[in-house]
Amino acid sequence: MSKVLNDKPVAVVTGGARGIGLEIGQWFLRHGRRVVLLDRDAAALDAATTEFGQNPDVLILNCDVSRPEDVERAVATVRSTFGRADSLVNNAGVAVFKPVLQTSFAEWRDVMSTNLDGAFLCSQLFAPLLLEQQGAAIVNIASISALRASTLRVAYGTSKAALVHLTRQLAVELGDAGVRVNTVCPGPVETEMAKLVHSVAIRSDYYDAIPQGRYGTVEEIANAVGFLCSAEASFINGQFIAVDGGFDAAG
Ligand code: NDP
Repeated sequence: MSKVLNDKPVAVVTGGARGIGLEIGQWFLRHGRRVVLLDRDAAALDAATTEFGQNPDVLILNCDVSRPEDVERAVATVRSTFGRADSLVNNAGVAVFKPVLQTSFAEWRDVMSTNLDGAFLCSQLFAPLLLEQQGAAIVNIASISALRASTLRVAYGTSKAALVHLTRQLAVELGDAGVRVNTVCPGPVETEMAKLVHSVAIRSDYYDAIPQGRYGTVEEIANAVGFLCSAEASFINGQFIAVDGGFDAAG
């Protein structure tokens, strides 16, 4: 079904069917964009389809960003359905929190394949669409774990640190063609991922170490992402911003 009904800008959000990604999608809708939500979680995709299925400004696609064939299919569908892409938010991520000696190679690869390979693939394969638009932008969702090494995060933190550098590489290469690329590094946010990997001890450590003394909200992350994709951020390129209540600054 074609949804090329208007000329509104289009934002693509990976891992967009729940959590931080879903709120980023809502931000774009509230700010007059059409939205493409890519995700692989069947239950989250069903819930998003129930919520947005009738909205002509929303396209929901089953896409595992670590699989080149899935991303290629998503790019083709976005082109044929909406005809453009102005923003890409590489938000899909997975977390394994284990000591290095207990992290299997399969777990390491699983984290890398979504958090790093997925961002590379989506950036590379959506770039032709983004390059057709004025003022296009990519935002990569890393983590405070990209900036601070801590126990249990050998795979997760390393993947997110690499994502920060991928941002800088892409900014250098795509900048002169007009596509800006930046990173948002969230501190802890109460989502399904946090429920999975934030033990009582980890939560207690966060509350102690974050100067604002709390978790962030999905809205606070989405506001930063939306700003970086907007014309107000037109000369910000290759940077990262921690949205973390002062956690990184506290050292
Ligand atoms: P959630 O787990 O709540 O949501 C992530 C969504 O992305 C899920 O639906 C998940 O599906 C999907 N997803 C995972 N891998 C893929 C893939 N390969 N292809 C397509 N979809 C995929 O996570 P959050 O909303 O908490 O996190 C969003 C981003 O923010 C992540 O990159 C995360 O690392 C980052 N972040 C989160 C923090 C937090 O405290 N919540 C803190 C710092 C950063 P599935 O269930 O199948 O995995």
